[in-house]
Amino acid sequence: MPNPKDYAILFDASRCIGCKACQVACKQWNDLEAEKTENRGSYTNPPRLTAHTWISMRYYEGLRPDGDPYFDFIRGSCMHCTHAPCVVSCPTGAMAHREGGVVTVDEKTCIGCRSCVQACPYGAVHFDEARGVVHKCTMCYDRISNGDQPACVKACPTDALTFGTYQEIRALAEERVRVLKERGYARANVYGLAELGGTHVLYVLTEHPSQYDLPKAVREAEKRAATGWLSAGIAAAALGAGLKFIVERREALKGGGQ
Ligand code: SF4
Ligand code: SF4
Repeated sequence: MPNPKDYAILFDASRCIGCKACQVACKQWNDLEAEKTENRGSYTNPPRLTAHTWISMRYYEGLRPDGDPYFDFIRGSCMHCTHAPCVVSCPTGAMAHREGGVVTVDEKTCIGCRSCVQACPYGAVHFDEARGVVHKCTMCYDRISNGDQPACVKACPTDALTFGTYQEIRALAEERVRVLKERGYARANVYGLAELGGTHVLYVLTEHPSQYDLPKAVREAEKRAATGWLSAGIAAAALGAGLKFIVERREALKGGGQ
């Protein structure tokens, strides 16, 4: 479980209006290039996260079994997992937990092997062909470590996003679910309490997580983790020793060495 004093974000699907202000604010603050979008019959655009899109709102619409129409939104981004498969799989330690449980990648030591891309069950980390390294949401580490909120949270016009300590955010999420249930949302739940050791991004959902395509990949990752943490760690250490040479070589080349 995350430390109570860790940083955390709450995404409350019951308050989200799908305006994408968070998605745009992320692009703006992190200086991420725009991507060409296309009409594929969905408001989800771009269709998935990339090295240049660190938040992508996903849209789900249709009819519930009782015939009621629904139009649901969810935030797609890094969940800043406690037992993060991306961190375990990284052979150089480039992908790591920083202060407050935030997971970020250090570009200087990333060698672009893409182990983390394969390991992440949320599809949150991507390879940047131009720079030869991976990128993903940093929870605006540069802002939060200076006492500010993440850009997405600041931009949200409906308070669907809240930033705070894990203890505060978890209490807020559980209280919100209690209120939603009172209002008739019988399936309201908090997502992220148990997944991958507890995630530092929690969701308040009005429907079962399967409605938002959430659980399947995580169950598989947890299964892999249960059998693979140890072997992955040993393999990473062995590989890391060999790869250290490559990193040093690359740094030497950058510095004009031979
Ligand atoms: S969501 Fe993916 S990239 Fe983010 S911490 Fe978890 S495993 Fe790593
Ligand atoms: S690409 Fe490789 S080195 Fe870079 S963060 Fe991922 S696993 Fe680590």
